[in-house]
Amino acid sequence: MKIATVLRDDDNTREVDRLLREKLRASSTRPFTLIENNGEEQPDLVLSIGGDGTLLEAVHQYGFSPSYVGIHTGHLGFYADWRPEELDDFVLALENVEPFIAEYPTVDCEFHKRDGEVLYKWALNEMVLRNNSLSTLVVAVYINGEEFETFRGDGLIVSSPSGSTAYNKAVNGAIVHPSLEGIQLSEIASINNQTYRTINSSLVLPKHHQVELIMMNPEVMIGLDREQAVWTDIRSIVCVVGQNKVKFARYKKLPFWGRVRKSFITG
Ligand code: NAP
Repeated sequence: MKIATVLRDDDNTREVDRLLREKLRASSTRPFTLIENNGEEQPDLVLSIGGDGTLLEAVHQYGFSPSYVGIHTGHLGFYADWRPEELDDFVLALENVEPFIAEYPTVDCEFHKRDGEVLYKWALNEMVLRNNSLSTLVVAVYINGEEFETFRGDGLIVSSPSGSTAYNKAVNGAIVHPSLEGIQLSEIASINNQTYRTINSSLVLPKHHQVELIMMNPEVMIGLDREQAVWTDIRSIVCVVGQNKVKFARYKKLPFWGRVRKSFITG
């Protein structure tokens, strides 16, 4: 089995990586080949050591072909199953257990530029659209080609189910189980008064529905997971449930609602 690691940039994480490599090299039951990110070899399994942000980085580095396992060196994560003190159990599981592969939906976005060019990008957590100044973001929102509303406010988030516990949750979006294939459109500080009106609720769209956001501002800020940039030439963005899913290799059971409870209620 070819294994690659992606690390958060801190001493504790590097030490966990060193220990893990030692244990994998010492494994006599199963041959593990540790590969470097040189673009030549594709890993079967990518180990993300750090936090959920590290996992996002790993997924954008290696794409949809390998499976992922997260080892958290901070707090319990939504994408990370193992703690550093469980490395021996983890290696034992790698040697002996056939993992369950959980597939998490993504968000696909088409960026239509004013000159007619179309760019395709995807996100595991979300696409965020904000104005690139303190003035109001104005966006015409179309659902399945029909006009829905004109949004005025700070921004809009289109999140995946697994991204629903991230930025989406901070704006009171719903938490969606990752086995449900959908995208969620959530508002960031919409203006609602006697002149302007938005739905002011998060919308969950099923597969094969699409949301189109038509820009009224000349310059916007767009985020895709960890990546962010200012765009001056975007006419519209079309978002749908992603064609590809990210594969997580589950070597032990950690029910989603248990993670939600631990992360947000009990700690
Ligand atoms: P960051 O600003 O350093 O961290 C954002 C926090 O979001 C971290 O605590 C991270 O967990 C957590 N997180 C990431 N994905 C999550 C998920 N699916 N469910 C629950 N929590 C999650 O940024 P980052 O580490 O590069 O992560 C990028 C993400 O930050 C974006 O995708 C966006 O969702 C989120 N974000 C949130 C807000 C907000 O809540 N107001 C604002 C901007 C961005 P770890 O500590 O385990 O890495």
